[in-house]
Amino acid sequence: MNLLTDAWIPIQQQGRYQKIGLQQLLCGEAGGELCLPRDDLELACLQLLCAITQVLFTPKDKKELGRFVQQPLAPEIYAEACKDKLDWFDLDHPQTPFMQIRGVSAKEPTPMDKLLAGVADGTNKSFVNPAGLGEALCGGCAAVALFNVANNAPSMGGGFKGSLRGSTPITVLIKGKDLRQTFWLNVLTQESAESVLPWYERTKDQRPNYLDTVKAEEKIPASAIGLTRGLLWQPAHFELLPVEKNATCSCCGCEEPVYRGFKKAKFNYTVEGVWPHPLSSRTFAIKKGEREEKFPSFTTTAPTWTHLSKLVVDQQNDKEGQQAAPVLQQARSFMAAGKIQLIVGGYRNNQATVLERRHELFSLAQGWAEHGLVIHKIIEGGLAYKTALRKALYLFAVGVKDKVHGSGINLCDPVEANYYQQTENLLHQTFAGVDFSEPDSTLQALNRKLKTVIIDLFEQATDPYRQEPKMLKALALARRSLHKSLKDLEPEGAKA
Ligand SMILES: [Zn+2]
Repeated sequence: MNLLTDAWIPIQQQGRYQKIGLQQLLCGEAGGELCLPRDDLELACLQLLCAITQVLFTPKDKKELGRFVQQPLAPEIYAEACKDKLDWFDLDHPQTPFMQIRGVSAKEPTPMDKLLAGVADGTNKSFVNPAGLGEALCGGCAAVALFNVANNAPSMGGGFKGSLRGSTPITVLIKGKDLRQTFWLNVLTQESAESVLPWYERTKDQRPNYLDTVKAEEKIPASAIGLTRGLLWQPAHFELLPVEKNATCSCCGCEEPVYRGFKKAKFNYTVEGVWPHPLSSRTFAIKKGEREEKFPSFTTTAPTWTHLSKLVVDQQNDKEGQQAAPVLQQARSFMAAGKIQLIVGGYRNNQATVLERRHELFSLAQGWAEHGLVIHKIIEGGLAYKTALRKALYLFAVGVKDKVHGSGINLCDPVEANYYQQTENLLHQTFAGVDFSEPDSTLQALNRKLKTVIIDLFEQATDPYRQEPKMLKALALARRSLHKSLKDLEPEGAKA
């Protein structure tokens, strides 16, 4: 199965499901939306398609990228770009199979579900995974799963190396009008690539590490990894078992040749430094004169909007800072004139265990590119009201030493979860609708609504304890704290 020439991309259009090839999408011969039963695999599939587009075509400059966004490719151009890379994308290639190493020695084959993050893991009760998902995978689903494990999921644990971005990075993609446009909007031009990877030019002809392999125990500086090699980096040694005759793929449900297992082996090396992935923002801190960079990830249950500043806004002082994903930096000058839609996703993990997966769409109104401070203020407001609510509920639970006896009932976590749930749409609407050059009226309206939400949540949460004489003082203390915080949150002019 070859990812460049076969029809493996699961597409839905007007209720019709079919598999098509990348050429049909890039040449405008077919379209539709990606369609896989799991949102994380759908995101990984999109990421893989953007990576292949980048590897086949790196536009010279913004002008050329603009042409690619506007006009479908001619089939001859597609064929020409694929010509010398067919061996990179063949899942069953005798020497260099896609994202695999030939001759992996493993005592036992591993079942395919181990390649689907969070399926084989018994602790993932919160996932609703269709029964049998992962028993047998068709070529397309196996390629997406290999790519997902290599880029987005925690490593297999126990000595297996994880992705170049650490264990569970947040991925950001720009969404275009259709799938074809989305691919191009997430491709860096040569100009952008040179500014993100100053070593771009001397590394641009490198081949992926499943063709030109890494030596055991090798130390590799991140600056030795070129754009193509980094995008297709396979951190581990995997090899699919030979493909078997037609069966139902337990992921996409198609009747196709399937893989029923793979071999895996530990392999050690070190990448020194952080490789600047085009689809990830980075945060950094200066410690003892050294810059330490990290990829943000979802470490708590706090919703995705709380991370949006880190994903979209650049800022820095002499101690720390944050930088948006390179594709967004590129888009700031390329599509600053309009609104932008972002696809944001990633896992939350505890070591090798996946606890949660996210795949969300954000819209940012026109002006997003120049007014990072407004994005920051919206998030700050959303968090400040949450903190006011928590603070009051905390006082209700613990009281004040030697003065007010606490109720001993800690409502902070469940009420915080309710707050996030009830305000999520409001925050999304604010980002999509704010007038970035005149944000004051939107910010005030947002604050008014958040205030109403926290007063309601506070009253609901404490209502069952209102008749408890022993808790009355704690309740009064908590309410005073809430109202003081609310007053502090009013804009200066509104305070009487
Ligand atoms: Zn499948």
